Amino acid sequence: MNITILGSGDAFGSGGRFSTCLHLAASDGTTMLVDCAATSMPALNRAGIDRNAISAILFTHFHGDHFGGLPFFVLDAQFVTRRRTPLVVAGPPGVAQRAHAALEAAFPGSATARRAFEIDYVEIAPDGPAEVAGADIEAFAMVHDDRAGPCLGYRIARDGKVFAYSGDTAWTDTLVPLARDADALLIECYTVDRKLPNHLDYETLEQHLRELTARRIILTHMSSAMLDHAGALACERAYDGMAIAL
Ligand SMILES: [Zn+2]
Ligand SMILES: [Zn+2]
Repeated sequence: MNITILGSGDAFGSGGRFSTCLHLAASDGTTMLVDCAATSMPALNRAGIDRNAISAILFTHFHGDHFGGLPFFVLDAQFVTRRRTPLVVAGPPGVAQRAHAALEAAFPGSATARRAFEIDYVEIAPDGPAEVAGADIEAFAMVHDDRAGPCLGYRIARDGKVFAYSGDTAWTDTLVPLARDADALLIECYTVDRKLPNHLDYETLEQHLRELTARRIILTHMSSAMLDHAGALACERAYDGMAIAL
């Protein structure tokens, strides 16, 4: 599984970074996105990604810096790339209604427009396994913002490897099984020491780091203060365009 971090930023473009979007490519050529932010069309174009080859978009939650790119992706598929193959849109329960509302808000009429491709909605519940684009998905309930969720983190198993991703969350012990023995864990680390009820800070992560047994730990979704913070943790830091080969 080859992962490219197309967007490693927070919701505010800190550091000039794109908001969250991950591109996952399996050895058989199947590709999917995890999250697709309002900034993700420029990110996909810059990286030269073939959008029509993307089988599915898997969303962690319904904030604009993770979900806001869907209307643009759908419009691009309709009018630019002229997609003909179905697109799977997967995410927490309510994903179809959320998608409908997002399309209608961004481009009125687009939710009910005739398209040359189907959108197949898949709801992912945190208490059951799922399959998206040939990958085995295990979802975990995160602690973020119930108005934009339920907010999920995922273990994505493909090609005998496991990629774990927290989405947005404050510290929760659920991160421990999420990360357990994963080949890589991408985990949000928004602030340095400022405690927020819905995001993780570097100081708290430091206290729990030994509990996270993933082979690689990569920090993402960093605020400008966190980007400027030269911490001592033996963690990698994501950047736009970062490639993770598992
Ligand atoms: Zn969020
Ligand atoms: Zn976010």
